[in-house]
Amino acid sequence: MFNIAFIAHDRKKDEMVNFVIAYENVFDGHQLYSTGTTGMRIMEHTQLKIHRYLSGPLGGDQQIGAMVAQNDMDLIIFLRDPLMAQPHEPDISALLRICDVQGIPVATNIATAEILVKALDRGDFAWRELVHKYKPEAL
Ligand code: PGA
Repeated sequence: MFNIAFIAHDRKKDEMVNFVIAYENVFDGHQLYSTGTTGMRIMEHTQLKIHRYLSGPLGGDQQIGAMVAQNDMDLIIFLRDPLMAQPHEPDISALLRICDVQGIPVATNIATAEILVKALDRGDFAWRELVHKYKPEAL
């Protein structure tokens, strides 16, 4: 079981919902997280249970980033809108940066998301189990 987060900017939310519907069986059984509205939309259209953090502009990206900083997040599907400025751009940059610090797989478009979800289904994320197992207690 892995910790997986979903974030979608407003014009990407339909794409996210369709993506999660398509792979609902793969995500089922994992511990799922999201920003506020994204998670609400996904739960309206699937049977998945998602722990919803705050909405992105209100700090949701930072809450997910805190899990990444502790190396507790295994995969992030983050469908960004590359054509619209976001008020919380600094939070978005910070989240992507901390993913690079910890080496966390993060998809920022649907093509990468497809590849990562197929990798998840194949068992390619097994190395993350070792990360969880050997993480120092202090974290
Ligand atoms: P939301 O946040 O899921 O609450 O809309 C995502 C975002 O727009 O950053």
